Amino acid sequence: MKADVLVIGGGSAGLAAAVSAARSGARTVLIERHGMLGGMGTASLVHTFCGLYLIDGDSPEPANDGLPMEIADRMRAATGRDAVKMGRVWVLPQHPVDFAAIADAMVREAGVEVLFHSELVALEPGWKARVACRGSILKIDAGAVIDCSGDAVAAAALGVADERAAPEKLQRPAYVCGVQGVAGELAGLELAGRIVEGIRSGDLPKAALGMHFRVSGRTGEVFGTLDLSGEETGTYDPTDPGCLSALESTGREVAQRVMLYFRGNQPGWEAAYISHWPARAGVRESRRWIGEVTLTGQEVLAGARHDDDIALAAWPLELRETNRGPKLRYPENGRAAGIPSGALKAKGLERLFVAGRCISCDHEAQASIRVMGTCFATGEAAGRMAASSLTS
Ligand SMILES: Cc1cc2nc3c(=O)[nH]c(=O)nc-3n(C[C@H](O)[C@H](O)[C@H](O)COP(=O)(O)OP(=O)(O)OC[C@H]3O[C@@H](n4cnc5c(N)ncnc54)[C@H](O)[C@@H]3O)c2cc1C
Repeated sequence: MKADVLVIGGGSAGLAAAVSAARSGARTVLIERHGMLGGMGTASLVHTFCGLYLIDGDSPEPANDGLPMEIADRMRAATGRDAVKMGRVWVLPQHPVDFAAIADAMVREAGVEVLFHSELVALEPGWKARVACRGSILKIDAGAVIDCSGDAVAAAALGVADERAAPEKLQRPAYVCGVQGVAGELAGLELAGRIVEGIRSGDLPKAALGMHFRVSGRTGEVFGTLDLSGEETGTYDPTDPGCLSALESTGREVAQRVMLYFRGNQPGWEAAYISHWPARAGVRESRRWIGEVTLTGQEVLAGARHDDDIALAAWPLELRETNRGPKLRYPENGRAAGIPSGALKAKGLERLFVAGRCISCDHEAQASIRVMGTCFATGEAAGRMAASSLTS
């Protein structure tokens, strides 16, 4: 199979990269190992778009026009929900079910060839990709490649060096599940208190402390998010199958125990039940590419701009180095920093681009640029860059 542009991974970044490359006229193939697009925003049930709007705005002012706003408009039309202000930032609630459908429509309209259940297993310069699907290997020859895997899998496949924070610094993972049958208003503080009671009485494990709930916008439905330490089986390594397996089973076990406890002890939750598990536990940070330029947290905090910026990073550093909630660090005067194009170009590798949470940046900058609104923007830019690299 031949492609002008091969996009690896169809999360927020890969969706935008593929649509943007196809709209730029490139024959674009998008491979995704799951059966739907959206990445963490669907498979892991992450249900809020952050980074779409400027910090401290009196109203939701777009940080990046183009695909981020197009996706936001489609989401608002699907859910009927508008952006809401939380402290200094505006966020857009999103529903994973709608996100998957919106993504399908966008790639179809743009003419992207999507291969679901297809996982990159090897890559050679040139670019020659080997993609596994149900025991068969498909070969794809591509003019340009965009790694939107979130885990810099193309770097691993090529055997080139990547960047990674120390295990104890990596942003912690979380497990999000869908819950139905909740009656009445969601009283966040009361629920948190109920969990503490359950731990004190010995009915709930200590790990339940990290669980909180948010309405989904659909009647009776909420999302439960359990912050995990990642150290359930020892050192946290989001690329290790044993560690990932422990995240999945611990997430399900603790969520189920909380649900049982709430059914017996929390008014309005008598008929509540877990309606869906995520396809995978949520991982915030793993490998990152080493690019021509590395965006730093200091630059994000200074609201730095560069001559070749392709997008703005409009989210504070959201550090989650423990499972006890985020530490937010805001840029000076709330000014959004620019993301330079060099952070999307793999160092020393022609026509290999990267977008989303594994672009070339340090651990602190990743705590800002990983949000989905920014991933749409880096994806769109990488798609354009990849398409134009074929003619330059
Ligand atoms: C628990 C949690 C809560 C979060 N909360 C928010 C929030 O409220 N708001 C917000 O905006 N962001 C939030 N984030 C961050 C955000 O969801 C992610 O950083 C963002 O979705 C990353 O997008 P991405 O496209 O870079 O990667 P991903 O969403 O991880 O997508 C990568 C895709 O590549 C695919 N893939 C990987 N390897 C291969 C391969 N070898 N072959 C083929 N396909 C492959 C994967 O299946 C996946 O679909 C949260 C993250 C987590 C984990």
